This record gives sequence, C-alpha cells and structure tokens, in this order.
Amino acid sequence: MGVYVQKYGGSSVADVACLRRVAERVLQTQRAGHDVVVVVSAMGDTTDELIGMARELNPNPSDREMDMLLSTGEQVSIALLTMALHAQGAEAVSMTGPQAGIRTDAVHRKAKISAVEPERVFAHLAQGRIVIVAGFQGLTPTAEIATLGRGGSDTTAVALATALKAERCQFGKDVPGVFTADPRIVPRARKLAEIAYDEMLELASAGADVLQSRAVEFAKNHGVVLEVRMTFGDEPGTLVRKEVTTMEDMIVRGVAVDTDEAKVTLLRVPDQPGVAARGFKDLAQAHINVDMIVQNVSEAGHTDLSFTVGEEDLPKVRATLEGHVRELGAQGLAFDEDVAKVSIVGAGMKSHSGVAFEMFEALAAAGINIEMISTSEIKIAVIVKKNVAGEAARRLHTAFGLDAGEG
Ligand code: ASP
Ligand code: MG
Repeated sequence: MGVYVQKYGGSSVADVACLRRVAERVLQTQRAGHDVVVVVSAMGDTTDELIGMARELNPNPSDREMDMLLSTGEQVSIALLTMALHAQGAEAVSMTGPQAGIRTDAVHRKAKISAVEPERVFAHLAQGRIVIVAGFQGLTPTAEIATLGRGGSDTTAVALATALKAERCQFGKDVPGVFTADPRIVPRARKLAEIAYDEMLELASAGADVLQSRAVEFAKNHGVVLEVRMTFGDEPGTLVRKEVTTMEDMIVRGVAVDTDEAKVTLLRVPDQPGVAARGFKDLAQAHINVDMIVQNVSEAGHTDLSFTVGEEDLPKVRATLEGHVRELGAQGLAFDEDVAKVSIVGAGMKSHSGVAFEMFEALAAAGINIEMISTSEIKIAVIVKKNVAGEAARRLHTAFGLDAGEG
C-alpha cells in the first residue's frame, strides 16, 4: 500500500499529552497498512518564543543565526514524538530536514526547497519504520541550515509527499477543515468539503493561515491531493484538489483577514518614469515581497506611492529605503501598521460580473473606508483600518451568502 504523509502542526504537538495522542494516531495509520512519514512543527508557540528571545538580545539578529535557532524547535518535536512511538512499541526513527534529504536554496529564513533526496527515508520505510521528519528546515548548497518561512512545515510535508509519490498528504489541525472564514472572526463560517488549489492559494496568501501558500503551490504543480482535518477526531476534513464538484453556484468561497500587513508610503515622489522601478528594485534585492501597490493622483508633478508588505518585513523596508529617500526625490517615508487586508476569493468570479461592486457596496453600507484595492482573476482584496477588519469580513460573508444555514 501507498505512503501516507501526515503533518502535525504546533498546536497538535503542544505538550507531552498531545504528543502521546499523535503517536497513537500515527500508529493507527501504520496498522491500517500504510507506510507512514510524519512531518511535525515545533511544539505550541515555541517558534514565537524563540523569536522573542532573539529580539530581546538583538533587535536585528542575523538570518543565519535565526535559522540555527528556529530549526531547534522542530528537532525537539521529532525526538519526543519518536520516543512516544517507541514507548507504544512502534518502530520509528526521527530525521532532521537535512537528514531526510531536504535541499534548499541559500536564502535564510525564506528558503525554497530545491530538491528532495528521499533515499534515506525510503530505506527506513523499507525496514518497517515510521519516519518522523522535522518540518520547516533544509540544507543549503553550502551545508547551512535554512528555514522555509513561517508555516514552512506544510511545504516540507508536500515536498516529501511528492518525492515519495505518496497516496495522501494529510494535515492534522485543531480545526476540522478549511472554513469559509476564520470562525474566531466570523462566527457563522462553515466548513468546506472541498476547495480548488487556486482558491486555497488565494485564501492562503490573503492571510487564511490554514496551509502555507507555498505548500499549496507545490501541491498544485505536482497534483498532490491534500486533506485538511482534525488531528483528534474522525470527521472527514476538506479536500484540496484541482477539480471541485460543487463549484458552479458558489461565486465566493471564502473571506480572509490578514492583520500582518503594513502600509508604506513614499511621500511626494516625482511623477516621472523610472522612480517606481528604482525603489522596487531595492526591495526585491532585499527579498521583500510587496503585495499591493497604489500610486495616487499626480499633483504638481509629484505623487504619493503606497504599497503593502508583511509587518515582519518593516524593519528591512525601513533599512532599505530610508537611505534612498533623497535619491528617489521623495519628500519622506511613512509607515502605517494599523491596517489589515480583507479579501474575498472564489473561482466563480471568473464568470460573474459585478462582484467588486457588490463588495464595495457591502462595505460602504457598513461605513467602512477602503484605503487600497487589488484584484486577481479570482480574488478582490481591500486594505482597511485594523479595527474594522472583523466587521468587514462579517459583512462580506453575509453579503455573499456564505453564512451557516444558507445555501
Ligand atoms: N514552527 C514554524 C512556525 O511556527 C514552522 C511551522 O510550524 O510550520 O512557523
Ligand atoms: Mg498591520
């Protein structure tokens, strides 16, 4: 029978009792006749705690040392989970990312997996062992440890599933599946039985922290069917795949809120060719992902240029652009962390017009001001003040007929 890759996130392995229960789940899967490879995250909030300690010692820690530090979180989990399995009589072995053959590029803290060399994992499976792999980490071409970006264990799981030609790639969560919205923000959100890769991708990049977007991209490119489900429970979860049967009459499949965005404005830059190119080239070289970009109406040959970045990149943006403000001919640089992005996502938008209008109307009716807008074929996102983001999401969830009990 085929290989099952199972991934357990931080909250599923938060303490010793959780680890014991995860071990039972894993053992059940093996006893059902599958070869099992398990990818785990760091326990609970370990990664955040490690980041906190680093910042206390150094507000601008080196990326290499951060990777050295953060990769330890997952190593604690793999050793403890393997011990729990041994205690239950199972044959199991733990492996770090590098040991499991995860190779990456050289970009610390946001490394991309370049290859998986699965021979050692296969060899252990052939010996009847359950293989427990540390997520979120790999080895660079110069034999450095690199981490894959927050939530990167998801990508480890999908990459392994691809390399091992796994039959399933399951994600054990503390929620029963993918929801139309975060139930903590939108109480009337409901679970989806299935969702298309592209929709999941847009939701993930819109801030729905169900699966890391890079993991979904990887799954899409390799046709790996994902299953998001409750770690402890037997309810069927949400399948993420190419074709979604119930797609036809759902225009919007989900609403997402991302509060980790920040708005940066280059004030009064000269409205002439080349200015934007220069500014964004510097950001690209610093590996900063820019999300939305808006150039305001030109006034007397000058314009404000605003864009959004992840809040965690703000110190880097500051460092990168501050020295260049003069060179760009700008009058100054302004930062606003008090913003959030609210997005609606649905493949049904492709064949429907007027979705943007409906969205803006619902927000206007709630007196919510829109600061920036961006669209893709299947997504419309707006930037609003942080304190109205939840209300915006609830209004949109209702406006597009997603509330539980409807449709
Ligand atoms: N432990 C890492 C994080 O918290 C990676 C992961 O959990 O996937 O981001
Ligand atoms: Mg923010």
